[in-house]
Amino acid sequence: LSLADFGWNAVREGAFAVHAAAGLVPGRVVLEHNHVFRVRVADSEILAESAGRMKHRAEGRQALPVVGDWVAVRLDTVGTRSQIREVLPRTTWFSRKAAGRETEEQIVAANIDVVFIVFGLDIHVKSNAIERYLVLARRSGATPVIVLNKSDVVDDAGPMREDAEQAAAGAPVHVISARTAEPLSALEAYFAPGRTIALLGPSGVGKSSIVNRLIGNEVLPTGEVREWDSRGRHTTVHRQLVARARGGLVIDTPGMRELQLWDTDVVDAFDDIAALAAGCRFRDCLHDREPGCAVKAAMERGQLDDGRYASFIKLQAEQLDMEKRRDERALNEAKRSGKIGSKALKALQKERQKEGRES
Ligand code: GDP
Ligand code: ZN
Repeated sequence: LSLADFGWNAVREGAFAVHAAAGLVPGRVVLEHNHVFRVRVADSEILAESAGRMKHRAEGRQALPVVGDWVAVRLDTVGTRSQIREVLPRTTWFSRKAAGRETEEQIVAANIDVVFIVFGLDIHVKSNAIERYLVLARRSGATPVIVLNKSDVVDDAGPMREDAEQAAAGAPVHVISARTAEPLSALEAYFAPGRTIALLGPSGVGKSSIVNRLIGNEVLPTGEVREWDSRGRHTTVHRQLVARARGGLVIDTPGMRELQLWDTDVVDAFDDIAALAAGCRFRDCLHDREPGCAVKAAMERGQLDDGRYASFIKLQAEQLDMEKRRDERALNEAKRSGKIGSKALKALQKERQKEGRES
């Protein structure tokens, strides 16, 4: 496999000239583990850390490498301390709001061309779930494809496919089964050399099963990486970006798996309600019991479907609850890391001083 099989192309090459002149080489992040990155460079895979100065640059977390990123690496030919010096501009990226911080965006994976939004036909597929995952996908820049998995458990997937097509707003819909022996040709059609595909969807819908089918036994011989955990034990880590011998790449990271409906603002998925909300008396109106609510008024006049209004209220409550829990978790983490305290902090400061001298 060459870098082109990983998606390297003339455009990226052109943009890289300035880094090449500085003695850096291009590579793609295939795994992030405990802040160490496994990077595929021209003909090998290396371990690299992100350069110290990148960690505290003004752009914050967005500047840090994530799986799928193209990066400029300073190779360490003697030791094992290769460094990621730059993250190249991303063509697409998936992100979530960082825990407890309203405005900070946390990028979870980058440079994904096509995203399979997977649902299982064993559970009724709600059209607003499709709508909201589509918002996530469209915001990322990746092309969305709806996949209805587990066709083997239903007699006739026809009606559910039609409902999904309605909600899909033009995105293709495929009905498949990861369990039958049939090849997943409908999905294979989206793969091409250098093209990166990721999966999104609730847990339990069959994403792992699909990934295993798409990657086949390529994962086992080459896809596992031995790492040492913090206590020096050997652990096995799966590559989070896998290039297939058959062509195309698959990204499957915990971050992508955790991306859920609440990572999109409810209002994004309900732009009709957002438009009506401009007429509400209060700017922070929740369209529930507030006086002078234009959304409620529209529903009462029959201009807004009450089923749609009800699902908006339900999703909004879910999201508020989720945000509250996430804020609490962030607070607890901050407290805990405050306790591990001085020793770790000193080590960090020492490292920073050293970095300061180096750069
Ligand atoms: P994930 O959480 O989205 O990664 O889902 P998994 O791949 O772990 O699958 C969840 C469960 O659904 C497992 O028990 C799978 O065996 C099962 N499953 C996955 N695909 C299919 C399918 O096409 N048909 C059926 N009947 N079960 C499936
Ligand atoms: Zn209102």
